[in-house]
Amino acid sequence: MRRFNHFNASTMENAVSLLNESEGPAYVIAGGSDLMGCLKDNLWIEAPERVVNLKTIPGLKYILVEDGDLHLGALATLTEIAESDTVKLQWPGLAEAARRTASPLLRNMGTIAGNICQENRCWYFRYPDKIGGRIDCVRKGGKRCLAVPGDHRFHSIFGAVNKCIAVNPSDTAPALVVLDATVKTTKREIPIDEFFTAEMGAQSTVLDRDEIVTEIVVPAPQAGPNSAFRKIAYRKSIDFALVNCAAALVIRDGKVESARICLNAVYNNPRRCEASEELLKGRELTEELAQEAGRLAVAEAKPLLQNGFKVQMAKTIVSDTLMDCI
Ligand SMILES: Cc1cc2nc3c(=O)[nH]c(=O)nc-3n(C[C@H](O)[C@H](O)[C@H](O)COP(=O)(O)OP(=O)(O)OC[C@H]3O[C@@H](n4cnc5c(N)ncnc54)[C@H](O)[C@@H]3O)c2cc1C
Ligand code: SF4
Repeated sequence: MRRFNHFNASTMENAVSLLNESEGPAYVIAGGSDLMGCLKDNLWIEAPERVVNLKTIPGLKYILVEDGDLHLGALATLTEIAESDTVKLQWPGLAEAARRTASPLLRNMGTIAGNICQENRCWYFRYPDKIGGRIDCVRKGGKRCLAVPGDHRFHSIFGAVNKCIAVNPSDTAPALVVLDATVKTTKREIPIDEFFTAEMGAQSTVLDRDEIVTEIVVPAPQAGPNSAFRKIAYRKSIDFALVNCAAALVIRDGKVESARICLNAVYNNPRRCEASEELLKGRELTEELAQEAGRLAVAEAKPLLQNGFKVQMAKTIVSDTLMDCI
C-alpha cells in the first residue's frame, strides 16, 4: 500500500476543508470495508494523498423517523438498519437489502453511505497491482475493456457505458431507488435516481471530490409498507449479488396505483424497470402479471457470451420480488 496521510475530521466542515486542502487526491473513509481494499490494491490512477476519517464526527450515526420520513445518518451501519424494528416494519425492502449485504462483520463496519458510494467489483478493475503488474482498463484510464474479450460472467447484461460493462454491486442501492430516497450532501440534495453514474471514470456516483453524503432521507410509505428485496448470489452469506432486485408498490382498493422496480448488478448503474412499472399500473397484482413484468424487465437485455444466465435470473427475481411486496 502506498503511504498516505490520515486525518480525523471533527465536523463535516472540517472534513470538507481537509479534502480541499489536500495537494493530491483525497478520499473520505467511513467503515473502510471497501476503501481499504481499493487502497491496498492501488486501484486508482493517482494514489490518494489523504484519507479523511468521518467516524470521528459526532452525530452522524442515527436512524430517525420525522414526520413519517426515515432519516439515515451517513454513518448508520448496515447492521443497525437491518435490525431496526422501525425500518423492518415500514421499509421492509430496505431492511432486507441491508440484512443481505456481505457478512455480519462487514455489516457491523459498513455504513449506508459507504454502501452506495462503493467502487465496482470487476475483477480486472480490482486486480492488485502487486501481482504481475497493474491492469489499466478503460475505467482506470486505459484504452480497452478487458472484460469484454475476457471473463465477463458477472458483468452487465444491458450493454456498456463508456465501453465499461462493470456492474454496480450495491445491495442497498436498488432498495433506496424504489423507495425514492434523497441523498443529502454537504453541497445539495440529490434524488436517488440521479445519484449513480458510470460516466466519471472509476467513480460510481455524481459526487464531487469534495462532496460528502451527510444523510439519506426515505419518504414515508404510501398506503402501507409494500416493499421487498431479493438477492441471488453464489453463497447466501458474504457474496456480492449476481442479480438483486427491489420493488415498492402503492396499492389502493386492490389495484396497483404506482410501482417502482429496480434491478442491480445487471448494469453500470442500478436499473429501473420502467416498462414493468407501467404494466402494473391500475391492475391487480397476480402471479401471471408479475411474470409478465419479469419478462418485460429483460426485454432489452443484451447478454454477452458468458452471462446469459443472468437474464433468466433477472426475469425471475423481478416477478418473485413483486409477489413478496404483497
Ligand atoms: C468481502 C466483502 C464482501 C462484500 N459484500 C457486499 C455485498 O454483498 N453487498 C454490498 O452491497 N456490498 C458488499 N461489500 C462492500 C462493502 O462492505 C459495503 O459496501 C459497505 O457498506 C461499505 O461501507 P463502508 O462504510 O465500509 O465504506 P468505506 O469503505 O469507508 O467507503 C466506500 C467508498 O465510499 C466513500 N464514502 C464513504 N462514506 C462516504 C460519505 N459519507 N460521503 C461520500 N463518500 C463516502 C469512500 O470514500 C469510498 O470511496 C463487500 C465488501 C467485502 C470486503
Ligand atoms: S468492465 Fe469496466 S472496470 Fe472491468 S475491465 Fe472493462 S472497463 Fe475495466
